[in-house]
Amino acid sequence: IMSKNKSSESVKVVVRCRPLSRKEESNGPAGGIVQMDLRLGQVILRNPRAPPSEPQKTFTFDAVYDSSSKQRDLYDESVRPLIDSVLAGFNGTIFAYGQTGTGKTYTMQGLWLDPEKQGVIPNAFDHIFTHISRSQSDKQYLVRASYLEIYLEEIRDLLDPNHGNTRGLELRESPETGVYVQDLTSCVCKSIKEIEEVMNVGNQARAVGATDMNEHSSRSHALFLITVECSQPGPDGRKHIRVGRLNLVDLAGSERQAKTGVQGDRLKEAAKINLSLSALGNVISALADGRSSHVPYRDSKLTRLLQDSLGGNAKTVMVATLGPAPQHYDETLTTLRYANRAKNIQNQPRVNEDPKDALLREFQKEIARLRAQLNHRRFRSKQKKEQVDGEAWERDGDEEEEEVEEEEVEKEAEEFVKLEEQRLEKENEAIREDQFLLAEEKQKLLGENEKMMGNLRKRQEATEQLTARYKAMESKLLVGGKNIIDHTNEQQKMLEMKRQEIAEQTRREREMQQQMLIQDEEAVELRETFTSLQQEVEAKTKKLKKLYAKLQCTKAEIKDVNDEHVRSRQELEQTQNELTRELKFKYLIIENFIPPEEKNKIMNRLMFDPDEDEWKFKPLVPDERLVPLIFHHF
Ligand code: ADP
Ligand code: MG
Repeated sequence: IMSKNKSSESVKVVVRCRPLSRKEESNGPAGGIVQMDLRLGQVILRNPRAPPSEPQKTFTFDAVYDSSSKQRDLYDESVRPLIDSVLAGFNGTIFAYGQTGTGKTYTMQGLWLDPEKQGVIPNAFDHIFTHISRSQSDKQYLVRASYLEIYLEEIRDLLDPNHGNTRGLELRESPETGVYVQDLTSCVCKSIKEIEEVMNVGNQARAVGATDMNEHSSRSHALFLITVECSQPGPDGRKHIRVGRLNLVDLAGSERQAKTGVQGDRLKEAAKINLSLSALGNVISALADGRSSHVPYRDSKLTRLLQDSLGGNAKTVMVATLGPAPQHYDETLTTLRYANRAKNIQNQPRVNEDPKDALLREFQKEIARLRAQLNHRRFRSKQKKEQVDGEAWERDGDEEEEEVEEEEVEKEAEEFVKLEEQRLEKENEAIREDQFLLAEEKQKLLGENEKMMGNLRKRQEATEQLTARYKAMESKLLVGGKNIIDHTNEQQKMLEMKRQEIAEQTRREREMQQQMLIQDEEAVELRETFTSLQQEVEAKTKKLKKLYAKLQCTKAEIKDVNDEHVRSRQELEQTQNELTRELKFKYLIIENFIPPEEKNKIMNRLMFDPDEDEWKFKPLVPDERLVPLIFHHF
């Protein structure tokens, strides 16, 4: 059952600008073209080719981070609230968008060895497991991680050692979870160390397949997925499970890929490289527009996979990354426009409560089943032991049995086996020394005892196996405050809390500043009363100047957008020309080298599979008229 408190909220968009690189610095004294107003959350972009009289372009975002920003600032202010939501059972997505080399990977992963420079992902690991270590012991957690990449519209499982040899994974859809990747590896993680290991394995797999890692990462999308399931007794006394799914996405470079001049396979490849990214742009535009009834999620793997994150059941943060160098002005402007559009997307996040497919529930059931089996065995052993001991069998109640520690169960079972063995050994000795027994009878009795001993050992082995399975199962679940020890002392905790408070404060202040700015712009000064005509003229001139500047900005914006449309149209036309040429070439071959009846046969058998975006042959059906003929022969 999904919670009813359905509310709408917009996608949070923050922008980060990296420092000038050493190479860019040596290019000249021009300096950066990106300015930021941290207090207001604004980016001011200077066109290096424009005359100084042209007004600069200003964009407002939920937060902005300049070249001196720290990884922690971004995390505490813009990511922490999202991860908190995931821990409370919401879906959450963070994606980094921007031109290659602007700091997407730096922001998402950062430098692992330097705690100051760890990015969003390692900080999220820390956050999640610290949260578990500090929560109540009536909460049980199950944390899982998956790691995939989308390259040339194929989904590759980065945690599957054979992912290089197999075909891409398929997307499936279920009413419960929405779109998911079929057969994707998912690793249960019990600590920061384990989940880091998962990340490392995936990163290595990513690098292995690529001849040039830089080029590869600029053309592929990397998605790290974390599922946190949490079970807690509700007021009704039953255990309720909340499931938070977190997508951490490092997108391919947003720069325009040159599609012109390439042909054949290279053309197809070039068309696929940015298919997911341009589909993402189209989805964002359609959603931001608010009027389009059709959102083209199905156009690419990425948009299908992120369907919930864009306009659906999720909380989403987009980090747009910029470089400050003048030569990238066009790309930077495009990124800012893209980011600006994304702000208008409305999501409907809700807590995922007791979904049918919660793995934690399955685990709890299996653990309970194994426990019952073990208890049953122990009960039988105890019964036998008491019979052996000659004691009267007293039933001491099931409830008490439930409470007994597993170790004790094991110990008692072992003890029973030992006692039994001793007893049988003693009996054997007695039989051997018994002078009244015939050799044959002795042999028979000893054999029987031997069999009993064997059975005993077999049973013991089975119990051990059962215990091992039970323990392995149980160890996958994390109990709040139990499995992971929180080493931070009170002072550190206080510091952390202070830092979080400050981040929250900064965020609220910025929101207020932005509100004031909007009000200021909309304020109708005309309603004011003026003491003198002179004053009125001054005030109105000021207002007029402001409006005129705004008009100029809007005009420039319209021209820019038009230019961009013309550019992309020309590109599309060019691509279309190349595709048409290719098509003509294929027709030429077909018409001249394939007999018409063969061609018809093939055409009749072909059908298009929209899910896999591929033409496929219908399976051959055996011709019924031939069947009787075959039978005649025999
Ligand atoms: P992308 O993943 O977008 O292609 P990278 O994250 O690889 O870009 O960043 C390119 C280079 O810039 C790397 O050397 C990275 O360390 C550096 N860099 C990026 N962002 C920052 C930042 N905010 N502060 C310092 N260095 C950065
Ligand atoms: Mg990168």
